[in-house]
Amino acid sequence: MHYDVIIIGAGPGGIFSAYELTRQNEQLKIAVFEAGNALERRKCPIDGKTVKSCVNCSTCAIMSGFGGAGAFSDGKYNITNDFGGTLYEYIGKSTALELMHYVDQINVAHGAQGTRLYSTAGTKFKKRCLQNKLHLLDASVRHLGTDMNYIVLNNLYQELNDKVEFRFGYQVDHIRVLDGGGYGIESEKGVDTCSRCIVSVGRSGSKWMENVCRELSIPTKSNRVDIGVRVELPAEIFSHLTDELYEGKIVYRTEKFEDSVRTFCMNPYGIVVNENTNGIITVNGHSYEDPKKQTENTNFALLVSKHFSEPFKDSNGYAESIARLSNMLGGGVIVQRFGDLMRGRRSNRDRIEEGFVRPTLSATPGDLSLVLPKRILDGIVEMIYALDKIAPGTANDDTLLYGVEVKFYNMEVSLNESLETCYPGLYVIGDGSGVTHSLSHASASGVYVARQIAGALKNKADRMGMIPDGNM
Ligand SMILES: Cc1cc2nc3c(=O)[nH]c(=O)nc-3n(C[C@H](O)[C@H](O)[C@H](O)COP(=O)(O)OP(=O)(O)OC[C@H]3O[C@@H](n4cnc5c(N)ncnc54)[C@H](O)[C@@H]3O)c2cc1C
Repeated sequence: MHYDVIIIGAGPGGIFSAYELTRQNEQLKIAVFEAGNALERRKCPIDGKTVKSCVNCSTCAIMSGFGGAGAFSDGKYNITNDFGGTLYEYIGKSTALELMHYVDQINVAHGAQGTRLYSTAGTKFKKRCLQNKLHLLDASVRHLGTDMNYIVLNNLYQELNDKVEFRFGYQVDHIRVLDGGGYGIESEKGVDTCSRCIVSVGRSGSKWMENVCRELSIPTKSNRVDIGVRVELPAEIFSHLTDELYEGKIVYRTEKFEDSVRTFCMNPYGIVVNENTNGIITVNGHSYEDPKKQTENTNFALLVSKHFSEPFKDSNGYAESIARLSNMLGGGVIVQRFGDLMRGRRSNRDRIEEGFVRPTLSATPGDLSLVLPKRILDGIVEMIYALDKIAPGTANDDTLLYGVEVKFYNMEVSLNESLETCYPGLYVIGDGSGVTHSLSHASASGVYVARQIAGALKNKADRMGMIPDGNM
C-alpha cells in the first residue's frame, strides 16, 4: 500500500501527529504502525498473585501499544520548557509552550474537563526551597491520572479510527529510502511505501532507532543518563506541597560532588510499579485521579544526572549495567528502608513489615549500597536530608527506597528546526528522537511536525494552483 504519511509508533507523539494531520488536511491517506496492542488489549500479566514479577512478554503492555509508554502513566502533562525535553531548542520557547497548551485543550476536550491544572506561579514553596539550597522549577501541570488518561486516549482513538488506518502488533523492521523519493516501510509482514514518514518510537524503540540511524547514516549523539531510586513515604509528609502543586520538580546541587539531584515524577497517594525496558526491570510510579484507587503513600524518584565525556559514549549501557546488577541481586527491583541503608545493613522482610510505611510494590528487600555507585548514593542521601528540611519526615527510618530507577535518554538524532532528518520527509519526534522526555513535549512535537507537513503541502499546492493532497 502507498500512504501519504506513515507514522511509526502510537504513543503520544504518534497520536498527536495523526490527530493534527487529519485536522489540517482531511485528504491525506495516513497509516499508524504500532508494535504493541490496541488500547483495550493492553494488559500486563502481573497480578500480584499468580504472576508476581515480569515474565518478559514479546511486547511490554506497559510500554507499548496505543498510548505508548504514556497509556498507564500518571498522565501528568507538564507545560513548561524547564524540563521534559529540549523541544524549544528546535522550535523556540513560545511555540513550544503554545503547542503544549494546544495539546492540553485537546485532552480537556476529549474527557479531561474537570481535571485540575496546577501551577507553581506565586507559590510560597519557591522561597522555602531556596532557603534550604533547593530549587523549585516553574511549571503548570494538568494531572489526568491513570484512569482519566485512559478515557482520553480511548476517545482520541474512537475519533481517529475512522480517518486513519491503524495496524497493531505491527513491528517495523527497516526504513528504506526509495530511489524515486519517499520511503519503504518494511516489516516481516510486508512492505508499504509513503511520501513522508514520522518516526515516533519512544523509549521502547530506542535500540531500533539506533539501528535505523546506523543503516541510514543519520548522525546521533548520546552522553546523558539519570540514575537513582524511587522514594515512598506517607502522603502526609508531602501533602502541604502536593495539595497545592501536585508535583514539585525540585533540584539540589550536592555539597560533596556538586552533582545535580532532582525529584522526578511525584505521585501523591500513588503506587510504585515495575518498568521493563528492553528486558531490564526498573522502577517507576503513578497514581489515580479516582480517590477510591488512591493509597496512603506518595512516591517520587530521586535521580542523579550523569553526563559522560569522550571517549565514553554508551551512557545508557552504563545505567543498564547498574539496573542489571539490581536485577541479578533482587530478581527485579530491590527495596530498602532508609534507616537500614544508613545503618549499613540490608533490609529483610521482617524489617519492612515492622516499618510504618506499607510498600505498594512487592519488591525484594535488599541493600542498595551493593548496587548503586557511591557517588550516586551519596547524592541521594544528601538530597533526602535536604528535602527533610522542607518536608520533615522524608529522612525517617521507615522511608522506603526502591532501586533502581533509571531515566534512559534516547540518543539525540540529528534534526533540523522542522524535526526532519537529513532525508527530506523523514521526521523523528517524541522520546525516540532524544529531543523530548515527557507526555506534553512528545505530543507537542507530533502537532508541530504535522503542521510542518501540512504547511509544506499547502505551499506546494499554492505554487501549482491546486488543492493540497498528499500526492505532491
Ligand atoms: C510508568 C510511566 C509513567 C510515566 N509518567 C509520566 C507522566 O506522568 N508525565 C510525563 O510527562 N511522562 C510520563 N512518562 C513518560 C511518557 O510516557 C513518555 O515521555 C511519552 O509516552 C513519550 O511519548 P512517545 O510518543 O515519544 O513514545 P512512547 O509513548 O514510548 O510510544 C512509542 C510507541 O512506539 C512503538 N514502537 C517502538 N518501536 C516500534 C517499531 N519498530 N515499530 C512499530 N512500533 C514501535 C512502541 O510500541 C510505543 O507504543 C511515564 C512513563 C512511564 C513508563
